[in-house]
Amino acid sequence: MAPPRSVAPRRRFVLGFFLVAALAPAAETGPVDYFADNGYGNTVSTLHHPAAEHRDGVTYVAYSGPHEDPYVAAYDHRAGRWHGPFQAGVNPMGKTPDQIDPGELDNHGRPALIVDRQGYVHVVFGGHGGDAALGRNEFGLPGKGRQIHAVTRRPGDISVWEVRDNISPFGTYGQWVLQDDGTLYLFYRHGSHRGDWVYQKSTDDGRTFAPPVPVLRSRPDPARPAMHDSWYAWFDRGLGATITASYVYHPCANPGHTAQRRNTYYMQLDGRDGTWTDVRGGKLAVPLTKADADARTLIVATGDEKSNHGSCHVDAAGNPHIFFRFAGGQMRYVRWDGTAWQGPRPVAAGYGRGSDGDFAVAAPTSVRAWLAQSRDGNGEVNVWETDDGGAAWRKTDTLFVLPAHGLEATTLVRNAHPDARMLVGSQAHESEHLYRRMYLIGDRGPIGRPAAEASHLGDRLERIKALRTGRPKAEAKKKKRAAVPDEER
Ligand code: ZN
Repeated sequence: MAPPRSVAPRRRFVLGFFLVAALAPAAETGPVDYFADNGYGNTVSTLHHPAAEHRDGVTYVAYSGPHEDPYVAAYDHRAGRWHGPFQAGVNPMGKTPDQIDPGELDNHGRPALIVDRQGYVHVVFGGHGGDAALGRNEFGLPGKGRQIHAVTRRPGDISVWEVRDNISPFGTYGQWVLQDDGTLYLFYRHGSHRGDWVYQKSTDDGRTFAPPVPVLRSRPDPARPAMHDSWYAWFDRGLGATITASYVYHPCANPGHTAQRRNTYYMQLDGRDGTWTDVRGGKLAVPLTKADADARTLIVATGDEKSNHGSCHVDAAGNPHIFFRFAGGQMRYVRWDGTAWQGPRPVAAGYGRGSDGDFAVAAPTSVRAWLAQSRDGNGEVNVWETDDGGAAWRKTDTLFVLPAHGLEATTLVRNAHPDARMLVGSQAHESEHLYRRMYLIGDRGPIGRPAAEASHLGDRLERIKALRTGRPKAEAKKKKRAAVPDEER
């Protein structure tokens, strides 16, 4: 195993700012390795994706900031300069004043970001199934908030945003898929934890969208009325016009809710004609039911072990490679070799306390993963590689270490520049507030900026101190909620 390289990337980073630091007053402009300090709550996830995209020398990133509102920043690789973050909209689930109890946040309305053919930047955010007051949801349970689509007024300029009222408000976990011909898909769960997964399709760069098309059915289990079939799904580009769907089953109590997730599944959409097939190419009837999912699309039955979604990428033959997370956040990898599923194999087995992240497929048996990991109380972003189809994984680099914190991962930056692979947010083990630092990590470590530029909190932390008298009440509420973490719904 390679020796720890926690120091080297930061040294490279500090050298990059040496000249700037030497010419300016150190206290105000000394370099920091984060680009913003106003991430708020659970700032990012791998389910809301992409969280970032590189286009024409600029990497755009999106995360939850103050009031759980979507914030977007951009890094110009040629100029070596950050722009923003700018607020891209207002999350209807946000609370005022700033909260200090994580149980007060919803987190489902985190932004996903895409850049269309013309360079306009789009975000979707703000929904957790949609408030019942919005009307009838024909595909699921009402929830909270409102799914909102916002777009920059000008291409490439993230300073001014406009809301486009052209998608269903009943969404959560928004996921953009942009195909090579410019066709833009928005996938999401159409409701709270019991809702069909659907997509809406746009062929005019997000100006208009076709109505939602359900693809995974949420409904009472015909055999067990006290159980409700539901899903957590992850969609992305496959080969050509194909879109991949990897998903896990959520057996939800009816009424109520559970935190259970089971099994792993795969299917794919042919974007040319809208048909869904299993991994062998056999046609599926959609929206897919639990019975059909089990019979036709199951990869692994996990029994009583919890499974969680990961990401999916295809190789040059179009065969899917998939990450899932199993109990304790341990990453597992499976791949379709054209005939059968190989795996699941553990990735980074025995390393630290759980991983999340993403990967890229170089060849059918050669895969590189970027994982945010927790080890010895520190957050790390490590690179792991396999050259034998996943049987053995080795850690080949450490790109970032954040002492005494956890890290929240995103999927890889879309069309990533090597200097900017993954957006991550810090997670405090103990904290007096919910503000988090945001990092953009690449092959040379984090892309930081002068401290004064990275500071966006103003006097918020001072104002939060006044809230602490309410802490005991908030703690009690948090404990009550802990039975079913909000994150799980
Ligand atoms: Zn549920």
